[in-house]
This record gives sequence, structure tokens and C-alpha cells, in this order.
Amino acid sequence: MDPGDPEEKPAATDPAGEPAGGQDPCLFLQTLQTLWSTRDLRQLREEAWKGFATLDDPLTTLLDMLEASRGYGGRGPSLEAWVARELELWLQAQPRPEPAQGGRALKPLQARAVRLLTEGPPSLVEPLVSIFQLQDADRSPVLAHIHRLHQEGKFKEAIVLGTKLQLQADLDVEKMCAPLLLQDKVDLTERYVDSSPLLQQRLLALMDSWCQPGFDIRVVARRYPQATLRLERLSPRALGRQVLRLLEQYRLGPALCPNVATQQRLAALRCLCYKRLVERSISRESWAELVQGLVGQDECLQGQLLRLLASQEDVAAVAQCALDLSLPEERLPATVVAEMSQLRLQERTDKASSEDRRDDCYRLPIAREDIHFLASWEELARHEDTLLQPGQVVGVDLEWRPSFGAGGRPRVSLMQVAVEGRVFLLDLPQLSNPAGGQAPRAFSQLVSRLLSDPSITKLGYGMAGDLRSLGASYPALAQAGQQLQGGLDLLQVHRQLRVADRPAPAVDGAAVPRGLSLLVQQVLGKPLDKTQQLSNWDRRPLGEGQLVYAAADAYCLLEVFWALCREPARFHLPGALPWSLGLGRSKRRGTWEPPPQKALASPWQEHSPEAEAPEIPARAFRVVCDNMLGGLGRTLRCLGVDVRVLHSGEDHRQAAEVARQEGRVILTSGLPYHKLRAQVGAGRCLAVDCSLKAQQQAKAILRHFNVRVTPADIFSRCQACNCDQYLKVSKDVMKQLVRLSVHPGGPGGASTEGPHSDGEQEAGSAPEEAPGGCSYDPPCRWLEDADLQTRVPATLANGTQLQLAGVPAGVLRRPGLRHFYCCTGCGKVFWEGSHLARVTSNFREVLEGAPRPASGPS
Ligand SMILES: [Zn+2]
Repeated sequence: MDPGDPEEKPAATDPAGEPAGGQDPCLFLQTLQTLWSTRDLRQLREEAWKGFATLDDPLTTLLDMLEASRGYGGRGPSLEAWVARELELWLQAQPRPEPAQGGRALKPLQARAVRLLTEGPPSLVEPLVSIFQLQDADRSPVLAHIHRLHQEGKFKEAIVLGTKLQLQADLDVEKMCAPLLLQDKVDLTERYVDSSPLLQQRLLALMDSWCQPGFDIRVVARRYPQATLRLERLSPRALGRQVLRLLEQYRLGPALCPNVATQQRLAALRCLCYKRLVERSISRESWAELVQGLVGQDECLQGQLLRLLASQEDVAAVAQCALDLSLPEERLPATVVAEMSQLRLQERTDKASSEDRRDDCYRLPIAREDIHFLASWEELARHEDTLLQPGQVVGVDLEWRPSFGAGGRPRVSLMQVAVEGRVFLLDLPQLSNPAGGQAPRAFSQLVSRLLSDPSITKLGYGMAGDLRSLGASYPALAQAGQQLQGGLDLLQVHRQLRVADRPAPAVDGAAVPRGLSLLVQQVLGKPLDKTQQLSNWDRRPLGEGQLVYAAADAYCLLEVFWALCREPARFHLPGALPWSLGLGRSKRRGTWEPPPQKALASPWQEHSPEAEAPEIPARAFRVVCDNMLGGLGRTLRCLGVDVRVLHSGEDHRQAAEVARQEGRVILTSGLPYHKLRAQVGAGRCLAVDCSLKAQQQAKAILRHFNVRVTPADIFSRCQACNCDQYLKVSKDVMKQLVRLSVHPGGPGGASTEGPHSDGEQEAGSAPEEAPGGCSYDPPCRWLEDADLQTRVPATLANGTQLQLAGVPAGVLRRPGLRHFYCCTGCGKVFWEGSHLARVTSNFREVLEGAPRPASGPS
């Protein structure tokens, strides 16, 4: 060829510049045949590509070759199919399409290619469609072929061809897809409908129709006797799951698939009934709300619910459910109706017993006022410094509305961040709402800073999954998982933890603790109350029970962490645990480090002197002592420490049992110390010097365990019974209650010990302020009428009788004294007096902020 030819065509020359048009197709194929037999694919490709370039008409040559070998297209790789694929690649690599091959010239070749397609092996389909642009060819022979394949039961081949040639418009989607669905080849039908929303909808409608209640899939299957079907894989549930997945993938609404939607709601209903009636792992309130949301006005589901309830054996539980949902009595069994009227009478007692149940569970050690619900930018800004305090440890948890597998990843609704003494609940939908002005940006920045600051240790349980959900719910936080620095996943710790004690048996059929609840039980002695877990977290405002549950879920992480730091040996944890268990990208130095002064020794060492032990907040410090040390117990309670005092009848050995079960440290003296220490280990048992006064003993203990007491801890616990829940009562109400309860002996008859009950001699004096401006103000709510079961005698809903006889008349007359505090555990009444000031000044040196010996900065 003349190098100066302006009409240079890529196919006309080969790289070596050999004369064009000279290559004999037969010779070319022979060469390839030889190389094919040697399996030297590299050389084969080189030779083939060189050859394609020298051929006059490579497309015709390919057809000639394929037609000549027709009938040999057996299994395994064939040279013909290989050549076809290589030619396809070669053509794609050419700088521009061959003008001679386009348009008119391609027509006769297309007809031949279609014939080959219908007779040749499936491996030829793709290259032939591409090389001969068969999607533009005459459709009728191909369509006829597809119908023939279908008739022969070659459904897969038919749908693949239909997909490749984009013939969907000329074919019936149901006819094409149904046999593939029966063969459990949903992926092929997906590819078939990939290009058209209309086809996607028709495929989903078909699948949904098979999920109709009572639908018999065998009726459809009989239409395809030629095919090997996999009906066993085609349960309505499996099909329903596929439908939900595709609905989400195609971004279509559930209205398109009413049968699947009903099926899912029914499954969720069954699951809810199981959780309420069998597992008892969901609260009555949450159950009723979720069931109501699910069933709504759907009569079919209403009927199903009644049937489900009627099939349960526990009539009392069913009756309670029926009451909670206000179900029509005429549609319930007579036994249930009878039980319902019984229950209406007992309503009050039930309330008390459900509260008892909660006493068996982990209790949030902070007051309701310390749970902050943050829903605006301003609220976020107000607490930003607390949330982002460098060097602190925080507990992080998330909540979302339960979906019971009803399609899609649920949107995270709440993020809880617990810091010492407080929990912040971040209202995610509200904070990320684009209409909220600065809120969405401030919110995502704050979360990013919190997660990425390696000096803030983030405690979680199964954190990676949580952060994935967070990222999927809020695009601005898509990188949440990657940003995490300084995370400590307690799930990983839990896997390493070994505890000797078996978990306590579940309370009256309640769910056996699992996951975090089990960890909390193993470390702190009681499981989490999970009855709010499955509640409607999208609801606003959240219920009181939900707020407390959410806060407890995050706060328990902190308490577990402190307990593990305190006594790693008890759980057989390796000494350097907090450093080695980083999550995500957290680095060794970034995860958790002791303050510089303490850096030399590990806080996980068992016999660590006080200066090396990690600091424990008073409210997280739990001890057990025998009743010989009752005075010490009361003093410690006075400082907010959780103290269990053994009864005089209980043996010393009981202390070891309690210590193990409830995660308490034993305080003892004399001989029992050696026995107990042998049982629980030296780090968990301390001998108290009985020659000291209770106050000195308490100080020594606080120093030994590095317990931090803040002014807010003072009197946060009842000295008499260890309860930390008070109700506030105004002076007027207290006067009224005392008047009602006046006995012949008159008020003040019974003398009481206690911090504030020495008020009689101070009658008339103004309440004293404690040094440092701290006055007694335990966070608690006001007594309401509903809290009183009866007014005479004044009795709380839980059955506790108020000890009104301990309130002297003089105190009621004292000006300036505005309110009283009632312990909900024992009914003792307190008021602010000089005692607070005395305790505060006596313990000044151990109080937070005061100079302390042998202590690092906090
Ligand atoms: Zn009490």
C-alpha cells in the first residue's frame, strides 16, 4: 500500500506494514489451529490480532469459520468461540468503526450471525451480538428462536438472549421471568428487567402475586413441566425478602406489593406477640404502641391479631394485651374477657410489681435531670464543651425504630453520648433536618470531632455496625466508621472476658440476658432492662421510659469500663487491655492512656497502689460490708457510695457471694478478711482498721480505691437503706401529710437518726449553706398525687410508708426551709440542715477540687 494514501484504513495494514488483502483466511486459521493446540495463548493472541489486521474482511472470515465448524460446538473452550471473542476485543480496540462494515453491508452478515446464534453454543452469543450489532438486526428470526428455546425448556438461554439483544419490549415479561423465579435464578430476571422501570414493576407485581395468602405455587409450576424447578426454595417468606430487596434497589414504594407488605406486617406481629407473651422482653407500653402502628385499620391484620392472642396459653397475659390495646371484648374468648375484668381491679398492684421487676435490673445511677435531650443547634452548642472534653471517656450508643426485617436499613433515630454524671441524647432526625438552619452542619461537625479525637475514648458495644448504620442513615456522617479514633469496643472485651459465675436464672420467664445486657450482668451484677429496646424511637417526644432506657444503655458502658479498669484480674483480662483493643483506625497511643503521672504502671494491675488506680466516681463505687461496719457503711452512703450492709443474720461468706454477683468490693475486718481475700482476691477485699472512727475509715477507703467524691454525691443516697431515689415534697404538702398522720402521741414521737433529722434543736434557724456554696439539692422530681397509694397512712405507690413521725413540728415552722425529701426506699424524710455542711467540711480533703495527696490531675 502506498504510504501516502490519504484514505488509510486501520484494517488495511498490519503493524509490520505488510501488503494488504494478501492474507489467506484458510492459512490464517491453520496457523491459529496449530497455536491453539500448543495452548500458547500469548502468542496465539499476537498472531490473531496481526491476522485480523491483514484480513480483507475479518467479519466474513469469522462467519465462514463458525459455519464450517457448526455441529462441533460442544462443551469446553473452542477455538471458534475464542476467535470470536478476540475479534470482538480487537474491533473495540480499533480507533474508529470500519465504514465498510456499518449500515447496509452489515445486513446480510447479521442474518448469518443470527442463524449461528440460534444454533451455536451460548458462549458465542455475546461476541456475535457485539460484533454484528445484532440489537439492530431484524428481530423476527431471533424472537422465533427465543420462543423455541422457551418451548424446549431452555429458559435460561432464552432470557439471556432476550437480555443481550434487548428484546424485552417484544417479549412477555411474566412468561420470560416466571420459570427463572421457579428455578431460583432471580439474578437473571433482575438483569432482564434492569433497563426498564416498567419491567421492574411488572416483575415485582408478579412476585408479589405469588405471596398472596393461600397462593399455591404448584399451579404455576405445572406450566413448566420441562424445567427442573426448585420450589423448596420458594417459600412466600423467601420470595417476600427478595421483593423487599428489589423494592429498595429500584426505589419503588411498598404500595406496589400489597401482599408482601401484609406478609411482613403479619410476621412483625407474630414477632411482637412472641416478645411480649413468651420472651417478655418488651414493655407493655411499647408493645401496644408498636402493635397499634402495625395493625392500624387493616381488618385482615386485626383478625390475625385476635387469632394470635386467642392461641396463647397465658390467659392473664393475653387479657393484659387486650386491655392495653382496648380490643373489643365480643371478639375475644370468654376466659380472656373474665380475666380482663379481674385485671382492671388489680391495675394498681400490677404497677407495683412491674416496678419490682425493674429493681432486678441495672439502674441508671444518675438523676433524670442529668439526661439532656438535644434537638437544636443552640442546645448542642451549650453542651459542646462537655461532649468534646479532651481526654475523657464517653459511652456511645444508638437507637432506631424496630423494623422486624420489613425491608431496608432502619434510620437511626437517637444517638446517646454518656459522660461521667450525664447523658446526652441527640435527636438525629431533628438535628440533621436541612430546614434546621445551622443545626445539620453543627451536628455533623460535632459528631465528627467526637469520633475523630483520639484523646476522647469512645466506648461502644458492636461499634462498627452502629457506625455503619449511622453513616447509612445520614449522608453527612457517611465516613463515621472511618473517622473513628480512640474507640474501645466492649464487645471485643466481652469476648476476652472470663467470668466464673454463671448468669443468674432469668426472672419469671424473662428473656435471658444477651450481648451488652449479659456483659452488664457479669460485670455489674444485674442485667439491663431491655423492655424499651423495641419501642418506637421515631416518636417525639420520647416517653419517660424510653429516655431512661436510652440513657442507661450508654451509661452502663462507662460503668462497665470503670469496673473492668478497677479489677481486670477478676475477669481474667490481660493487663494492657485498654491499649490493645483499639477499634477501627485507633492507634495504640490514641486509644486510652493514663494521665502522664501514672504512665509507668498499668491501671490493670491487681495490687496497684492508689496512685495508679484509675479514678472511680463515688456513684460507681460499690461495696459490701458486714453489719459490724454499719457506721462506715452509713458514712460511705452519705458520700454517694453504693453500700450493701449484710444483715446480722447473714454469714461472712455471704459477702463473697454478693461481691461476685453484684460486682462489689468487700470491706471487712479481723479474721474474715483472710478467708474472704482467698475467695475473691486481694484487689477486691480490703481490711478496715477498726481502731479508727468511721470517718477516718471512709477516707482511707476512698484513697485506697481512688474514689472521687463531688459535692453532688453528698447525701445522694439514703444512709438508712442505700436507695438513691428521692421525691421532693413542698413544705405545704408535708404539713398536710403530717397533720393527717398525727397519732395520739403527736409528731416527733419517734426519734430518728439521719443527716437532717437533728433539726429539732435548730428550729427557727435558717438553712445553712455548705462551704463552697454547695447546698443539698439532689436531682429528683416532685411528689405527685399519683405517687401516693393512700394519704393516710401516707404510702407511696410501691408500698413504702413515709416516716412522717420523724418530722418535728419545729422544722415545719422553720422559715426559709421550702421543701423535704422522701426516700422512696424506706420512707425516711430529710431536709436541709447543718448536717450537710458538717459532712462537706469533714470530707473537704476528699472532695473534688480540694488538694488531694497522691493523686494525679483529673
Ligand atoms: Zn431510705
